[in-house]
Amino acid sequence: MVTRTDIAVIGAGLAGAACARALARAGFRVTVFEAQGAPASGASGNPIAILHPLVSSDHNLASQWVEVGMKTTLRWLSELGEGNSMGSLGQSCSVVQLNRDASDLVHWTADGAWIRPTQFVKACLSEAIACGAQVIFNQEITALETTSERVSLGLKNQSFDAAVVCTAQSTELLLPQAQLMLNALHGTVTSYSISQSESLPCVICADGYATPVIDGQMVVGASYERGDDTHDKSSNLDRLRVICEPLAALCAASPSQDRRSTRSASLDRMPHVGRVLDANQPLKPSISQIHQMPRHPMLWVLGGLGSRGFSSAPLGAEIIAAQMRGVVPPVGPRLLAAVDPVRFALRRHQRRSPC
Ligand SMILES: Cc1cc2nc3c(=O)[nH]c(=O)nc-3n(C[C@H](O)[C@H](O)[C@H](O)COP(=O)(O)OP(=O)(O)OC[C@H]3O[C@@H](n4cnc5c(N)ncnc54)[C@H](O)[C@@H]3O)c2cc1C
Repeated sequence: MVTRTDIAVIGAGLAGAACARALARAGFRVTVFEAQGAPASGASGNPIAILHPLVSSDHNLASQWVEVGMKTTLRWLSELGEGNSMGSLGQSCSVVQLNRDASDLVHWTADGAWIRPTQFVKACLSEAIACGAQVIFNQEITALETTSERVSLGLKNQSFDAAVVCTAQSTELLLPQAQLMLNALHGTVTSYSISQSESLPCVICADGYATPVIDGQMVVGASYERGDDTHDKSSNLDRLRVICEPLAALCAASPSQDRRSTRSASLDRMPHVGRVLDANQPLKPSISQIHQMPRHPMLWVLGGLGSRGFSSAPLGAEIIAAQMRGVVPPVGPRLLAAVDPVRFALRRHQRRSPC
């Protein structure tokens, strides 16, 4: 439990804004530091994001996480929207999930949504500010130094009781010893200007996804590009072709705009939520369970949100706020362990330790 109350949140994308909202509402004194001049300048600034279930035959932990995460995000959308509706933040909609070549229906839900990510991030920050938070832009944090009681960000007169790192692919630079195993996966979404009369009735996913026409644009995504892969301009059109050939033909002749950004994803594709490893403490051979792992007293992370940030960020932020307050978190121990930032360090330790 964090007994004092000055918390630094680093990064003002979806993760940082969600943490700022959850922590400020829980009564912590929050200061957000963002390297750029505006919020949502990374992946969280895409034109539209979709919220849809993760279907698995055995409803595994990843599917369970997305299920609880979606419910949390839908609640946040109605809390932050206008008059208990999502307002301009997004809209609930049906989502049709087809298999990769669109030859078969995998899943259909009426409980999906599309979201305007930048507006959502701004709404979270506005509410955090209304609860007393401060947001400082154009302030890149290059290192975290900890004494026995405070975290210092290398800025004059700025030290905190705890820091939550929400900097996506820069997270490992700030938490180099945390063993978070993050990869950068670049991706492009393409917005096509087509008329409302051509709109799909709902979100359709196959290998990629296509949205209804929103603000005069249909958004199609998203490519996966590792490392130095070149940006394939035709790839989102190819994805649309699989979903609906005539619509792709129309889009090929319509004005379009690409936005490229980067996902930060962990090796097991689950997010990192909570207190990081304390690398200064030796890992005793007797450690075999996640709750025995040494935790840094002041350093936390919400990251590795991958392709489904909107299924993870609000829930992750509520978990961190609950853990900092020392109250029961909103998910059970198995889901908590699945997103625990020390899980890779534990797995490595288990491989090294004889049974
Ligand atoms: C092409 C693409 C399509 C996607 N589509 C969807 C979708 O449909 N649905 C969905 O749920 N998710 C989607 N995602 C994923 C979602 O966008 C991300 O999971 C989410 O935006 C990540 O939020 P974040 O806050 O962790 O990262 P970011 O949005 O990248 O924010 C990190 C912030 O930290 C700041 N920062 C970095 N380093 C520092 C530093 N040292 N000091 C201070 N500030 C710093 C950055 O400037 C940035 O503002 C998509 C992602 C991509 C790339």
